[in-house]
Amino acid sequence: MNIQVPENPVRIIHELEEAGFEAYVVGGCVRDMLMGRTPKDWDITTSALPEQVKRIFPHTVDTGIEHGTVTVLMGEYPYEAYEVTTYRLDGDYQDHRHPTSVEYTPSLKEDLKRRDFTINAMAYHPKKGLVDLFDGYGDISRGMLRCVGEAEIRFEEDALRMMRGIRFCAQLGFQMESSTREALKKKASSLAYVSKERIRDEFMKILRAPHLECFLWLVEGGLMEWILPEFLKMLETPQNNPHHCHNVGIHSLKVVEHIKKVLKEREDKESDLLLLAGLLHDVAKPETRTTDARGVDHFYGHPEKGEEMAKEILKTLKFDNDTKKKVSQLVRYHEYYYDQPKASFRRYVGKVGKESMPLMFCLQEADIMGQSEYQREDKIRRIQTGKIWYQELVDQHTAVRVKELAVTGKEILELGYTQGPEIGACLQKLLEYVMEHPDRNTKEELLRQLQREE
Ligand code: ATP
Ligand code: MG
Repeated sequence: MNIQVPENPVRIIHELEEAGFEAYVVGGCVRDMLMGRTPKDWDITTSALPEQVKRIFPHTVDTGIEHGTVTVLMGEYPYEAYEVTTYRLDGDYQDHRHPTSVEYTPSLKEDLKRRDFTINAMAYHPKKGLVDLFDGYGDISRGMLRCVGEAEIRFEEDALRMMRGIRFCAQLGFQMESSTREALKKKASSLAYVSKERIRDEFMKILRAPHLECFLWLVEGGLMEWILPEFLKMLETPQNNPHHCHNVGIHSLKVVEHIKKVLKEREDKESDLLLLAGLLHDVAKPETRTTDARGVDHFYGHPEKGEEMAKEILKTLKFDNDTKKKVSQLVRYHEYYYDQPKASFRRYVGKVGKESMPLMFCLQEADIMGQSEYQREDKIRRIQTGKIWYQELVDQHTAVRVKELAVTGKEILELGYTQGPEIGACLQKLLEYVMEHPDRNTKEELLRQLQREE
């Protein structure tokens, strides 16, 4: 088995060996190379203690020193960073999430044994070759995810491993070996002890991963209750109307699937916003469902209620304020028909925000693709119209917000209005006027309009 290890990790291994220690590349990079994937980063495991590592390399950072990890910086500025971690055993786990102590060991074998899955527990040395004590390579070739050791014990130690397991399957297209899967079902409730931040990070990795079918394993395995219990309700909510052919949960996943298709491999802040909005846009449908005399389901007010719920959910999962705000905005305004008067459209863009409209179109198109084929062509055509209107609005710098008006609060003050709510009310009135007459957004015209109203 030959792995092409890049120059810097080879040099780090060499230096550590020169100083009398053992060193290997380990974990994700070995797995990825054996699968023909490009590793995100190259991690090194060594018998040297953190203090010894720091003495060998001139540029280091103590990022994770309490876990035995020293970041070694190589080359010239901007440096390339490598995590060099001392062989370790994990001490007692008392709370299903963090080892209560870190104990170093001189044995590579012990270090590999503490790792979560067989495919993540291989080390490689440029001269000595692969160290694969748990048949990680066999599991890679079978496409199987399996715990190192007894799965139930491993999940008991750190419950996040259950989500990591599903995440690796979702990224790599693997199946979960049956005893690992069974253990997951038994231990699901210990996810309650894991911090929301760690849950959030794994959840996003699953949502971004190419094999979205694994998202439903969170439900089958009983983990969803501790992550996004609202999704369980969505799965139980039918949509008996001609626009739909799936329950709310499956529809939402179809929307996410379509968003992914459009995003391709893109991974950035905006793509995360879209994935979350796709997943949550109908989150309030379970609570707003009514069935009329003909047996047709309606979901009146679900975007408004959904905005509140999305905010609350994202807060619980410790998302940042910007994400909370932008995702809940997308949820709030996802239902709009681009066949209303242009003034209504301008007001709509004002509420959504000009810069968020491209995301909104993407969400709305995905929403349509996740629905039944009923009136699909008309629905798509309406979105196309919306896009054309939006382009016009951008090209013509049409004002949709107070700050885009040709007069400022200060100028109105100078006309003799009093500071305070009065100014705000004036600006709002002028914006209303400009929404109806976009070509009259000039200082002269607006000041005249103000005087006319007096
Ligand atoms: P990625 O490509 O997502 O970075 P990775 O395998 O490198 O995947 P990391 O979270 O970066 O995953 O962790 C590096 C290595 O540390 C893993 O390959 C695994 O061997 C070990 N590891 C990480 N988290 C755990 C955990 N919770 N329990 C046991 N071992 C773990
Ligand atoms: Mg990694």
